[in-house]
Amino acid sequence: MTFFIATKNRKKLAEMLRILKPLGISAICEADLDKQLEEVEETGTTFAENAMLKAAAGCKATGLPAVADDSGLMVDYLDGAPGVYSKRYSGEDGNDERNIQKLLTALKDVPESERTAHFVSSVCAVWPDGRMLQAEGRCDGVIAQSPSGSGGFGYDPVFLYGSVSFAELSAEEKDAVSHRGKALKAFKEKLEKFIKETENADK
Ligand code: IMP
Repeated sequence: MTFFIATKNRKKLAEMLRILKPLGISAICEADLDKQLEEVEETGTTFAENAMLKAAAGCKATGLPAVADDSGLMVDYLDGAPGVYSKRYSGEDGNDERNIQKLLTALKDVPESERTAHFVSSVCAVWPDGRMLQAEGRCDGVIAQSPSGSGGFGYDPVFLYGSVSFAELSAEEKDAVSHRGKALKAFKEKLEKFIKETENADK
């Protein structure tokens, strides 16, 4: 079985390849195609919907089963914002630094007890015949008063997991507890079951 991995993010691509390979699944990505795919508009109101939109578009464009993910940060004090808008919180041409500044400004003078937040990651695979597999992972933490650490990406420097920020963890330490690590683990378990069931049905 060959999968199309519908992501332009190299870190996500590597993570997904690590998961699919032991299951005997080979994978290709956009760089392996002789055409450039159109950007998928993330019009969903949930991470699951957006992951499905990206996977379905990848499947349609390649004719292969496709897998995609969508993720973001939900802050309780902000009623779940920035949520599905996490990447463009500070505007379409914003960046990680501006997103963090906007978040810290929105939480100015908010005490630690009210700065609770969680990351969500939703992973989805879509097959050409319409079958679909979805899995989700969540990681709870607190938004710091100021950034710390130099690793990771996005909101990692202000996301406190226990006493350290995600940006202070190694990639392996973050993978072990992160929303994405958990979503991919759950996805792997579902996919293993799905493959066994498909093999049995084919016998
Ligand atoms: P997307 O899943 O590529 O659409 O990313 C959504 C946005 O959520 C990213 O650009 C980051 O701002 C944020 N985000 C998602 N996962 C993480 C994470 O593990 N650490 C920090 N920020 C994240």
